[in-house]
Amino acid sequence: MTPQQFNTAVLDWFDQHGRHNLPWQQDKTAYFTWVSEIMLQQTQVTTVIPYFERFIERFPDVQSLASAEQDEVLHLWTGLGYYARARNLHKTAQIVTTDYYGEFPQTVEALEQLPGIGRSTAGAVLSISTGKRAAILDGNVKRVLARFYALEGWTGSTANQKTLWEYAERNTPHKRVGEYTQAMMDLGATLCTRSKPSCPSCPLQSHCTALKLGRSSEFPHPKPKKKIPVKQTIMLLLQDEQQQTLLQQRPPTGLWGGLWSLPEVADLRDANSITGLSLDINKAEPLEPVRHTFSHFHLDITPVRIPCNNLTDCVMEGDSTLWYNIQQPQNIGLAAPVKRLLQKYTRISK
Ligand code: SF4
Repeated sequence: MTPQQFNTAVLDWFDQHGRHNLPWQQDKTAYFTWVSEIMLQQTQVTTVIPYFERFIERFPDVQSLASAEQDEVLHLWTGLGYYARARNLHKTAQIVTTDYYGEFPQTVEALEQLPGIGRSTAGAVLSISTGKRAAILDGNVKRVLARFYALEGWTGSTANQKTLWEYAERNTPHKRVGEYTQAMMDLGATLCTRSKPSCPSCPLQSHCTALKLGRSSEFPHPKPKKKIPVKQTIMLLLQDEQQQTLLQQRPPTGLWGGLWSLPEVADLRDANSITGLSLDINKAEPLEPVRHTFSHFHLDITPVRIPCNNLTDCVMEGDSTLWYNIQQPQNIGLAAPVKRLLQKYTRISK
């Protein structure tokens, strides 16, 4: 399908089935288009309509918005969510009024410099309000293009963003650009919907790759879940005859900062050199490993019990050690997995 066939099919469909009576389509000024585009980000058309009408009644032009108190702008936005949009709208109105004499700039590059306006919003404002050729790539358009070309991988990756913009630019017509912009948004919102796209009614069905592959709903691919790394450690359960366990206080900053934990080694053979103790490694008893998950990694802990029958063998250097007695526990902060290990591996005498 050539770009011309693509945009002709979309425009023909729009003439018959597109939305032509939305309040912001009645007067396609840059101001109306911009306000509606900002409101429509992450929000559906039906929700936006009453907000748009109230907003425009109170702020009919960019000057009235610029001179309003921010509180009033936010008040009219109440319920739409994502309030940064309203604050940026207010800031941009002030910049347009003071730096551009109340007229929106007429290039994508200049529009993109304004608070809250990205490349796609700039393209929409420019194409709809002036008819200048500018592409858009909002969420709806991304979905249509990702399916039409069966674009593998997450659409937000730098490489896929670049590819999608190339597709968007390529298919944008030279004439009727504003209508094409509206048409692509409508196609994504009404036919090529997130779940269960209505492919039999779609003007692009004859050349849609995802449809041909029978994988329409598979695209666009979601953001891949990050695989978090796994780290290993050995925690030493050094216990005396009274079932007391030697704990060490961690440095004040970093992981479990200031909490009490078990002495840790990476390799059991280094237990004596790292702890400064005289442990009988031959008596070491490895216990069942446990996994503790942090937001950015898993920590696989292998607890190893080593009896310390002679207390003097087990006095570590410095003040930051104590013998913890689970039956008369000291009032100290314990790292969560350490607490569980102490509860599991301390034999409570009756
Ligand atoms: S044919 Fe279906 S999947 Fe392809 S663009 Fe149209 S609605 Fe979307």
